[in-house]
Amino acid sequence: MKLNFEKFSGTGMTSDSSRDRLVKQLQKEGIIDNEVLKVMRIIPRHIFVDEAISSKAYDNTALPIGKSQTISHPLIVAKMTEILIKHKPKRVLEIGTGSGYQAAILALLVDKVFTIERIELLHKKSVEVFKKVGFQNIYTKYSDGNKGWPHKAPFDGIIITAGAKEVPDDLIMQLNPNQGVLICPVEKNGKQYLKSIVRSEKKFHEEVHGIVKFVPLLEGITT
Ligand code: SAH
Repeated sequence: MKLNFEKFSGTGMTSDSSRDRLVKQLQKEGIIDNEVLKVMRIIPRHIFVDEAISSKAYDNTALPIGKSQTISHPLIVAKMTEILIKHKPKRVLEIGTGSGYQAAILALLVDKVFTIERIELLHKKSVEVFKKVGFQNIYTKYSDGNKGWPHKAPFDGIIITAGAKEVPDDLIMQLNPNQGVLICPVEKNGKQYLKSIVRSEKKFHEEVHGIVKFVPLLEGITT
């Protein structure tokens, strides 16, 4: 897969050295997986946000992407990716494409990324960026992610990048029964806990990885 990032305009703030700085900070904050760090170094985050805020793209912070949604904090993207790829998934489903940044990171680490977004505008924008860069293993869908993508199931990994009240049953059932892993922020008493659930046939092993803050996982679709 030949990727082309040159078609996007960049400024001094969006250069390689800004990305080096971000990666150093991720290491300082506990990210140790070299593959994850390498990919965070390769994928330019600024191409997933509007040009007006691209100078902030390498700050370790969430940023607005329109329609009251955000591109996640790089540390959270790195952390969720690190948890996910420990399980060596080949086919991964993401719920909440948003800017497309998380899907792009995953595309360099797994065979196929399927990603669903419920806001049409964000879905369309991400499709354009994926096309412009030349990703060939990202499959997008404009739909309500709570239902998953049954025709493409099972998935070795499912990553939900929005806060759920409960992990949707449909998604759990689309996990590979042999060690499929689902990662999801789940709300409890006003806080969101990052959970991972590993499936072995009918058994599910749950772990909590700390507190996070995501926009909510909603129902239905919108423009
Ligand atoms: N992974 C994204 C983060 C985006 S924020 C990134 O890298 O930029 C979360 C996204 O989840 C928002 O775009 C929101 O519209 C979307 N979302 C919320 N509920 C959803 C649902 N039920 N199905 C699909 N997408 C959903």
